[in-house]
Amino acid sequence: MNIFKQILDAIYKIFIDNKLPDLIQGGINQDNIKEKFISGIKSTDVLGIDFVQLENTKFIFNYASWESARSTGISDIKIMLNKVRKEVFWFLYKLGVDNFLSEIHISSLWRPNASIHTIGIAVDLGKITSADGETIFLYNNGSSKCPKLIEKISKWSWNSGLINQYIGPWNHRGILGWAKGWFNNGLRYKIEIQHKNHIHITVKVGR
Ligand SMILES: [Zn+2]
Repeated sequence: MNIFKQILDAIYKIFIDNKLPDLIQGGINQDNIKEKFISGIKSTDVLGIDFVQLENTKFIFNYASWESARSTGISDIKIMLNKVRKEVFWFLYKLGVDNFLSEIHISSLWRPNASIHTIGIAVDLGKITSADGETIFLYNNGSSKCPKLIEKISKWSWNSGLINQYIGPWNHRGILGWAKGWFNNGLRYKIEIQHKNHIHITVKVGR
């Protein structure tokens, strides 16, 4: 085989390798992920619960999760979702598939008068279910230890490079004014107490 053929093969292989994940994942990518979420939303028989299934992960929105959006006159969850930046959906999608989560329960997404949630770059998670069906309520009563899966997810989230802030019931990172690195959520400061029952994520935008 001559060298040019080898180079062509190598280029072709890179092209195929880059295309393949897209095909396997049903063509989901950073540019269409928002549309996939919004068009995939379904209502369940249980009153007020909407969800979207993307690959192995079900993303669940209960009625309370967009209560404050409804208070501004938004009557359709799709309108609420449309106010959220695509980077948030991409983070959620990657969180689910890369960590093999079977469920992610979103406790708040877009809401009024809430700084970064209002500009559509933040999401709050209330509970998650692992691949083997273990549901973890994201709640620290002051003495509970961070579950192993959540520890893994917190590190994954930060290392993904997709986020600027992770504030959870057991640990947090990326709060302005705090030194760099991870902190235990000691439930001593207001911001810690506010996050004892959910994980707040702020995503990076503008790539
Ligand atoms: Zn939040």
